[in-house]
Amino acid sequence: MTERVHFRYNNCGHRFEVEVLDEYERREARREKRPTSAVHCPECYRTDVRRGWE
Ligand SMILES: [Zn+2]
Repeated sequence: MTERVHFRYNNCGHRFEVEVLDEYERREARREKRPTSAVHCPECYRTDVRRGWE
């Protein structure tokens, strides 16, 4: 199961939505050395994000 979470980039305010892994899938991903969070803005390539769209 995944959970959809809203994020917003601090730099440009671009909004996006990601599916966040639950605890079990996060553990699986870590075991297989898959990245669990690797997001950057498609426009300005910054990675500083804030949770929520407010
Ligand atoms: Zn941006």
